[in-house]
Amino acid sequence: MTNVLTPEPDSPTAAFQPPKRYRPATELVHIEAPSDHTSGPGTAIRDPYQAASVPIYQTATFKQPSANGSGEYDYSRSGNPTRSHVESHLAKIMHAQRAFVVSSGMSALDVILRLVKAGEEIVAGDDLYGGTNRLLTYLGTHGGVRTHHVDTTRPEAIVKVLDPQRTRMVLLETPTNPLIKIADIPTIADLVHAQCPDALVVVDNTMMSPYLQRPLELGADVVYHSGTKYLSGHHDLMAGVIGAKTSATADRIYHVINATGCGLSPFDSWLLLRGVKTLAVRMEKQQANAVLIANYLISRGFRVHYPGNPAHPQYALHRTMASGPGAVLSFETGDVITSERIVESTKLWGISVSFGCVNSLISMPCRMSHASIPAHVRQARALPEDLIRLCVGIEDPQDLLEDLESALAIAGALPGDPMML
Ligand SMILES: *Cc1c(COP(=O)(O)O)cnc(C)c1O
Repeated sequence: MTNVLTPEPDSPTAAFQPPKRYRPATELVHIEAPSDHTSGPGTAIRDPYQAASVPIYQTATFKQPSANGSGEYDYSRSGNPTRSHVESHLAKIMHAQRAFVVSSGMSALDVILRLVKAGEEIVAGDDLYGGTNRLLTYLGTHGGVRTHHVDTTRPEAIVKVLDPQRTRMVLLETPTNPLIKIADIPTIADLVHAQCPDALVVVDNTMMSPYLQRPLELGADVVYHSGTKYLSGHHDLMAGVIGAKTSATADRIYHVINATGCGLSPFDSWLLLRGVKTLAVRMEKQQANAVLIANYLISRGFRVHYPGNPAHPQYALHRTMASGPGAVLSFETGDVITSERIVESTKLWGISVSFGCVNSLISMPCRMSHASIPAHVRQARALPEDLIRLCVGIEDPQDLLEDLESALAIAGALPGDPMML
């Protein structure tokens, strides 16, 4: 007899009922038996005690019912019930055929990039997350995979470097970070699929989260997120999330995860599931605060990069793909020293890399998150050294505005009205 605590698979003969679809905010908190949304190993969990919170199966191994090892789970690198549960929940939210959680966002990208072989090519943006840039560079020097960096706001720039023989992946971020450039996912996916049927269109959707944008519905083949950001929401864990559109792609991804051993630990899987339930309320509040902050900075004459800014060149395009502008924006002051003073004069806004947490953060990307991109490359990609990035949290917006205004005044960045405070 199997140990009663070891979950058994749902009967494979049970009649298939397509799961009812709810709106995103409902789906985030509505956690069901996972079997309907995924098709890989370890997808079915039946807790004998009907625990309201999914148990943490903090175990490396699972006892097998027979000598031929026919148990649902055997080894946590290959599969763990807590991990399966969060994967199934995220697959539903991302509208993926199957989802995977791994140890960090970079680890998610590493898994995806291993689908490309030496001699093959990748096309990626020119305003990428710093760590993404570093990993692609490493793959170029150590893995024989060349990456073409192009301006992904221009689909024709992508088409120019596509090579049906070599291109195996087109990697997009939209909005990019920190310049908030928008890539047209449906148009690019159509062009890539028509010219390079073997290439996967991959989207890093960390900035939007699946609550605001679901790239698999827009034509992408693979989506990934840093779960460290909005999905978990509290900066208390690191995780990466991958969603695949087809089971064929999912199988290739699972193979790499099992082979390299980067699957998310049971405890972090549990924390991620706990965090993701509040994604909708956090994102709505963070976004509403971000709109107020962006409008304030625009009214004070700063150049503000934000998809919710009607002056953004791709304001309309973003609205066709996402249900909101998100909560990350950047602005230019015109002077690096002024920017440094602003960042160091805030009290409420914490100086930190990263975003997606409930508290507000301020940073200078060229000095922090994007410092691994060499200065000449930053210059070539028009990344302003004075750029300040704001990652807006759920605080009272009045406090955030007052703190920012005071920092701007201390730094002398409000020339028209130095005495206003
Ligand atoms: C943070 C981040 C990553 C990397 O995720 P980690 O969890 O830090 O490894 C990748 N892409 C974007 C856009 C990010 O913001």
